[in-house]
Amino acid sequence: KAYTKDDIRNMITEENVEFLRLQFSDVFGTIKNVEVPVSQLEKVLDNNLMFDGSSIEGFVRIEESDMYLYPDLSTFMIFPWATDSHGGKVARLIADIYTADREPFAGDPRNNLKRVLKQMEDAGFKNFNIGTEPEFFLFKLDEHGNPTMNLNDKGGYFDLAPLDLGENTRREIVLEMEKMGFEVEAAHHEVAPGQHEVDFKYADALDAADNIQTFKLIVKTIARKHGLYATFMPKPISGINGNGMHTNMSLFNEAGNVFFDEAGDLQLSKTAYNFLGGVLAHAANFTAITNPTVNSYKRLTPGFEAPVYVAWSGSNRSPMVRVPASRGNSTRLELRSVDPTANPYLAFAVILAAGLDGVAGEMEPNHAVDRNIYLMDEAERKKAGITDLPDTLLAAVNDLDTDEVIKAALGSHMARTFVDAKRLEYQAYRQEVSQWELETYLEQY
Ligand code: ADP
Ligand code: MG
Ligand code: MG
Ligand code: MG
Ligand code: MG
Repeated sequence: KAYTKDDIRNMITEENVEFLRLQFSDVFGTIKNVEVPVSQLEKVLDNNLMFDGSSIEGFVRIEESDMYLYPDLSTFMIFPWATDSHGGKVARLIADIYTADREPFAGDPRNNLKRVLKQMEDAGFKNFNIGTEPEFFLFKLDEHGNPTMNLNDKGGYFDLAPLDLGENTRREIVLEMEKMGFEVEAAHHEVAPGQHEVDFKYADALDAADNIQTFKLIVKTIARKHGLYATFMPKPISGINGNGMHTNMSLFNEAGNVFFDEAGDLQLSKTAYNFLGGVLAHAANFTAITNPTVNSYKRLTPGFEAPVYVAWSGSNRSPMVRVPASRGNSTRLELRSVDPTANPYLAFAVILAAGLDGVAGEMEPNHAVDRNIYLMDEAERKKAGITDLPDTLLAAVNDLDTDEVIKAALGSHMARTFVDAKRLEYQAYRQEVSQWELETYLEQY
């Protein structure tokens, strides 16, 4: 909503808000908070609240550490649950990061997404609409409040109670979301035991990214209230489905959805095909952003409904990109590789840049693959032009480092920070000896 400063002053008085939380996300998508008492409201509204950027991972060096928080007034929200004993409430604002010279900070993922959205506007489009389907597991907490690996139920896809013990938790999550202004379209048990999905209505990329960050906070908070731990980790348990975050997307101009063309093949427009061509062409190279953890690549394996190959289909659910059946303003591409560890601001920036590159270069996608890719052998896949997604974080980061379009979509500051940090993360992982290795090699050699 487009709030004025006065709207915010009024809501704060009427609702007895005592604390203001300014939120932003670091390069890795972790939400950071600076909390101030409402006595600091005017300072906040005047963009004069400062914080030390050097304390945030991947932000800046010590010598350039003073940063300003510029709140986006439209993101004002009162937390429905954060009421203390005397009824005081906590409200939040999502902020952009500005340097001491009052320039948008290049290491701020939210600023960066705005920059890429501006390029989209310059290319003649109005909105990049995004609807995600984030999945998560609910694990039990132990008596000290620490997460265990015990799942909270044995339910399966769309199961109902008593198998689905997460039902009450999920219902409360939905109610809290609605109080905070989300339009929840569906919430259901997922395929794996203890796994859930909540779908909310699509929004322009910037709002969609803000919503995902807020959603994760709500899920974790409510789960804890129920003695549970919610995790968005892509593959916490081997041998069962992992957590994805299917990303549905469409481009709009003043007249509506430009992916729809009644007369087009499959009723898709030339723009839709070119955008898809760009997404496919850059997919391997943006995977480090959409799947940014070592664990992400344990989800991207055959047999668990997650994609492994770069391909698309208008009917089949196994490829990386699916075109769901709805048309008109719901015409969209569904990218199924993304997982919820992705920083949504960065993910939407690189996907958009890939698609726009396809539109600018009039890239054509390969033929749709309407059969089960997992039943094709390597020669058949090669003949159909199907390539592989990277199979480790290191491979993905190396691919990213070769792609100037994707690096430009991150900006040089963040591209460098991200690539360096992820190479270190992979090296740290590589030095560990896993249970699987011990079981396989210890006695054999
Ligand atoms: P699935 O059939 O893959 O399970 P869901 O129904 O769970 O799909 O989720 C569909 C998502 O797509 C929702 O978040 C919805 O708001 C979103 N969506 C619908 N229309 C559009 C559109 N035009 N652009 C982007 N996202 C859209
Ligand atoms: Mg779904
Ligand atoms: Mg659904
Ligand atoms: Mg799902
Ligand atoms: Mg889906």
